[in-house]
Amino acid sequence: MLDDIDRVLVTRDQIARRIQELARQITDDHTTAEGETEITLVPILTGAMVLAADLMRHMPVRMKIGLMTVSSYPGKSLRTQGSNVLGSQLGDIHGRHILLLDDILDSGGTLRKVVPLLKEMGPASVKVCVLLRKDRSVAKETPVDYVGFDIPDEFVVGYGLDFDDYYRNLPEIVTLKKAVTTPASP
Ligand code: 5GP
Ligand code: MG
Repeated sequence: MLDDIDRVLVTRDQIARRIQELARQITDDHTTAEGETEITLVPILTGAMVLAADLMRHMPVRMKIGLMTVSSYPGKSLRTQGSNVLGSQLGDIHGRHILLLDDILDSGGTLRKVVPLLKEMGPASVKVCVLLRKDRSVAKETPVDYVGFDIPDEFVVGYGLDFDDYYRNLPEIVTLKKAVTTPASP
C-alpha cells in the first residue's frame, strides 16, 4: 500500500497542528458570553470520520454527534458522480448548533445538497468545516466557515479519503501513482 503513494501533500504533523488550531477557533466561536458551549458535530461519512475523531478530542465541550452518509465518488471514480445522501442518524437537531464536517471541498455539490437539508430541520445554526479545499473556483466560491488546508486540484487519499474504499487509514494526505488509479487496459 505504501508503494502506491506518489507524493505526500500534507504530513501528519501538519494535520495534527492545524486540527488543534481549528478546535480552538471553533470552540471560541461557539462559546456564549456566559461561557457555555454546545455543539452537534455532524461528520459526513465515510471520509470525515478521521477528522471528526481527531477534532472532537481537542474540544472538551458539551457535544453530541450526528451522522450523515453521502456518496459522491463511488468506487474507482476520480471525479464527482453527483452526491447522494444515503442515510442519516442525526437525532433531533432542532435548535442545536451544528458543525458539519467534510473531508474535502471539490465541486461543492455535497455541501450544496446537505446544508439546506440540515437547515430544513430547524437548527439554531449550521457552520461548515472542511479539512481540505481544492484550488478550483467552484470550491473557493462555496461558502464554508473553516478550512484546514488549501491544496492543488489533484486527486488525494489518506486521513479518511479513499480510492475504491482503500487508503482511508493512511495518516497523511497523499497522491497516488498513475498506475494505481489508471484502469488496466483490456
Ligand atoms: P464535492 O461534492 O465538493 O465535489 O466533493 C466532496 C466529496 O467528494 C468529498 O467528500 C469526497 O468524498 C469526494 N472527493 C472530492 N475530491 C476528492 C479527492 O481528491 N479524493 C477523494 N478520495 N475524494 C474526493
Ligand atoms: Mg466524502
